[in-house]
Amino acid sequence: MNDSTNICLSCGLCCEGTVIGFVQVGREELPLLRDVIDIENTNGEGFFLQPCKKYCNGCTIYSKRPKQCAKFECGLLKSLEQKEVDFDSAIEIINVVKQKKIDIERKLALLQIELQSQSFYFQMIELKKLLQKNESELSITQNHLDLISDLKQLDSLLSNNFGD
Ligand code: SF4
Ligand code: SF4
Repeated sequence: MNDSTNICLSCGLCCEGTVIGFVQVGREELPLLRDVIDIENTNGEGFFLQPCKKYCNGCTIYSKRPKQCAKFECGLLKSLEQKEVDFDSAIEIINVVKQKKIDIERKLALLQIELQSQSFYFQMIELKKLLQKNESELSITQNHLDLISDLKQLDSLLSNNFGD
């Protein structure tokens, strides 16, 4: 098993909905994939939202996974393959992102903020809009400010390490 496979097995941040919010499924893939995963339809094409129901410490439909999944390489994986980052540093980055996600989820519970979106990726978009609204209405508390700070840190962690 090479470093790239290992890093994804230790990570899962795409499949569980932190780095991406959904997977697009091509028209030609629908007949086979419908047998293994629930797919939403849009104009003959399909998609499913993250967190992926087939993720359980790795992809449980690996040999049948959609093309987008097979092709997907986040910035961190590319950096590892190009030896711009070593394995231990990549694991450290993944762990920092996972901890930041936990911090945000704890603050959401503390502030009793309920979000409608299914995936963490879309929840963060929803949350930013909500906090902007609160900011303009001047009902912001220190806990909100801490949450905004965590969100900014998560944004920069993701864009600096997982983007193209
Ligand atoms: S986010 Fe990147 S490193 Fe993590 S599992 Fe997905 S492709 Fe692999
Ligand atoms: S099908 Fe597999 S690789 Fe694709 S998102 Fe789901 S768990 Fe991840």
